[in-house]
Amino acid sequence: MSVANEPPTAPAPLTIIGTGMAGLGVARGVRNRDAARPITLISADSGDEYSKPLLSSALAKRQAPEALAMRDAVGVAEALDAQLRIHTPVTAIDTASRCLQLGAERLPYGQLVIATGAAPWQPFAVPPALASRVFQINDLDDYRRFRTALDGHGGPARVAIVGAGLVGCEYASDLQASGHRVALVAPEATPLPRLLPPPLGRALGTAFAEAGIDLHLGRRLDAIQDEAETVVLTLDDGAVLAADLVLVATGLRPRTALAAAAGLAVSEAGIQVDRYLATGAADVFALGDVACVDGLSAMYVQPLQASARALAATLTGTPTPVSYGAWPIMVKTPLLPVAALPPREAPARWRIEGEAGDLVALAEDTNGQLLGFALTGRCVRRKVELARAAPPLLG
Ligand SMILES: Cc1cc2nc3c(=O)[nH]c(=O)nc-3n(C[C@H](O)[C@H](O)[C@H](O)COP(=O)(O)OP(=O)(O)OC[C@H]3O[C@@H](n4cnc5c(N)ncnc54)[C@H](O)[C@@H]3O)c2cc1C
Repeated sequence: MSVANEPPTAPAPLTIIGTGMAGLGVARGVRNRDAARPITLISADSGDEYSKPLLSSALAKRQAPEALAMRDAVGVAEALDAQLRIHTPVTAIDTASRCLQLGAERLPYGQLVIATGAAPWQPFAVPPALASRVFQINDLDDYRRFRTALDGHGGPARVAIVGAGLVGCEYASDLQASGHRVALVAPEATPLPRLLPPPLGRALGTAFAEAGIDLHLGRRLDAIQDEAETVVLTLDDGAVLAADLVLVATGLRPRTALAAAAGLAVSEAGIQVDRYLATGAADVFALGDVACVDGLSAMYVQPLQASARALAATLTGTPTPVSYGAWPIMVKTPLLPVAALPPREAPARWRIEGEAGDLVALAEDTNGQLLGFALTGRCVRRKVELARAAPPLLG
């Protein structure tokens, strides 16, 4: 029963740290459901809206970095009717007083969403003299810097990529397709080791080698040095590679430091949240690459979109648990298309069928039950049928 003349309760201001696909997805979802809710977004970067997956396929599509920004920060703030603070790293979260620390400034919040993504992890030091030639690309600002160096080279560049996971393989494919000379170095014996069992990884390696990518698999980097205009990489077998530019793609780690310092539960897999994306602190939530939802870290777009939809409903008064379907990861390697749904636990066996580059690998338990799959070449078209038979990631 409402009391006559009682002033309406003002909706608690919502503050979102991070303007990647996760942070903006929640902001958009909340705004669609509530036109009046005050929303503040805070970003360490430029706040431009862009689709991160497009970064690793832009060269072959002849897209300039400017074409990748769908909206600048002003456009984002207008479209969401929100406050947007850019180039403003949050330095601390105080859950007891419900305040953020932005350098010397304290900013109160009503409800808080942490969507700080994941940061590149680099297992070796780079000499300062190489800073303008060795890159990690994890956002549009990084990509702009890389493209300035690449385009400034004024012709086909020698690019060495360290790391053969999704990011390394996609950039290798994109750079090769746009006429650059690519070397790919990784300690694992085959590309995409976390997505593909070895026979399918070898098929991808063969497609790369046939296209002219210089593969150095099963090799670690021993040294990286500056020699005049050339970056010299020495591998653990003594091989020496000369490159104009180097891309380090050795993995991403959830940015959990803020949450950990605030006393929230974190692990290497991310900030621990439940199916409502709730942390252990009242009115503090997390989603996207930084979050580990009910024990699962899924650092790709479909899970964060589902999380953003569920969290927007929760934040606007309809508590909604998130669930993830059996959503395969599509790898953008046109030289040999790849789709994979990695099994959550190690399978009893991989059943592998097909020939040459057209392969199906089925991850099965001891009863022959499908746990996940990996597909290459023309077999990628079986992804929908197999996803229907596979267990959901978070049912
Ligand atoms: C090259 C590449 C290709 C990919 N391709 C695909 C693909 O094809 N399909 C797919 O599904 N997925 C793909 N992914 C993964 C997908 O892009 C990510 O899962 C997704 O973009 C993560 O979004 P996010 O919002 O969680 O994090 P991010 O986009 O990293 O955003 C994090 C935000 O937090 C901000 N931030 C961080 N720390 C602070 C702080 N202390 N204070 C304030 N702000 C802070 C950052 O500035 C940024 O705005 C790809 C990833 C990469 C790198």
